[in-house]
Amino acid sequence: MKLTPIEKYIKDKVNIHKNGREELERYQLDKIKESITYVKQHSKFYREHLKDINEDSIKSLKDFENIPFTLPSHVKENPFGFLCVPQKDIVRIVTLRSSGTSGDEKRVYFTEKDLQLTIDFFKHGMQCLANKDDRVLVLLPGEAYGSIGDLLKKALKETEIECFVQGVMVDPKVTAKLIQAENINCIVGIPIQLLHLSRVENEIFKNKIQKVLLSTDYVPETIIKEFTNKSECKVFTHYGMTEMGYGGGVECEALYGYHMREDDLYFEIIDPVTGKTVEDGQYGEVVFTTLTREGMPFIRYRTSDIASFKTKKCPCGTFLKTMDRIKGRMENRIKIDEDEFIYMRELDEIILSFEEVVNYKVYIEEGNVIFLDLITLNEADFYKSSEKILSLIKAIPSIKKSLSKNIIEIVIIYSLDDIVINNTMVKRKIHDYRKRV
Ligand SMILES: [Zn+2]
Repeated sequence: MKLTPIEKYIKDKVNIHKNGREELERYQLDKIKESITYVKQHSKFYREHLKDINEDSIKSLKDFENIPFTLPSHVKENPFGFLCVPQKDIVRIVTLRSSGTSGDEKRVYFTEKDLQLTIDFFKHGMQCLANKDDRVLVLLPGEAYGSIGDLLKKALKETEIECFVQGVMVDPKVTAKLIQAENINCIVGIPIQLLHLSRVENEIFKNKIQKVLLSTDYVPETIIKEFTNKSECKVFTHYGMTEMGYGGGVECEALYGYHMREDDLYFEIIDPVTGKTVEDGQYGEVVFTTLTREGMPFIRYRTSDIASFKTKKCPCGTFLKTMDRIKGRMENRIKIDEDEFIYMRELDEIILSFEEVVNYKVYIEEGNVIFLDLITLNEADFYKSSEKILSLIKAIPSIKKSLSKNIIEIVIIYSLDDIVINNTMVKRKIHDYRKRV
């Protein structure tokens, strides 16, 4: 088993000699303190937010657990307040919308140096799966300067790996043509989009694609299983979000979970209710702190992603931390009764395992009516699978219980949405259209 290339990269960068983990954590603690000093000097938001914090009193990573969290709502309210450099030094601005309405936007700013650090991470992260013999297709936005596709392309260029950036997939036929023409064997893309591609262009996918790297959203197990078993593809997953500078962690060839970008980011997992750090092995919310960010650093930023740290070492033997694959976001569930929830990942595992389905939408309306809007290639496919899907969903314990109490209703419908995919990087979620009480 090959050691993750991320380890050597971090060792060289941080100057680690013997006691890997110990030296890395000392570096992280120093960087955390440096970052706090930096943001208190340069960011309006943090000057106020951390005004009672004396960084010299942080003597250990344990002490750092007492520092207040940064919330996405803070960024929405005043992204400018986070800026640590003059506006002219910002080369990339990303606007993130979670619901599509304005006023629900987050802006994230990067300097040239920030982008270069991401390129460095991508360069070594991609070596977990690709080498000079590979031809990589990136199905992520790549037109704008500093976009994720642009940074990946630059990273792969430095390692002389052939790379084509097509952007978010719009038409599977066009993508399939490019795979043929350019002899692509490795794809980086959004899980649900690659599932769509593999179902619509099955032959090409199966014959050409040997490796995929799934990114930008959590990955349902059923997708990994399908790619691995049916298409004989090696499936790597990457974890990151824009606020992290896109890259956060990537699996090595052991496929045991992500090895984290620990030179640039410090990760914690907390109990979302109490805010206390949880033990390794326990699930909680991922929180991260930027250690090297220049334009818009974050201190203890709550991601709302659910994961845990592995308790056992990765078979590759690295001293880097390994995070289990993300289980989805906290919003990816809806409450249907006291202590009863429907989780999107439970729906995913059932619905996406049906070959006739290429995507679906789920929303809940007034009166607890849950709509499952199935996107299939044609209407006949819908009738072929919808009844079976519905009966499996009705057997999910929380749903079964609520159905027997007559407090929810489930409706499965054939989506009239065009089969052509929306050009979107927005994470999938359950939409709640019930009026708030
Ligand atoms: Zn590993």
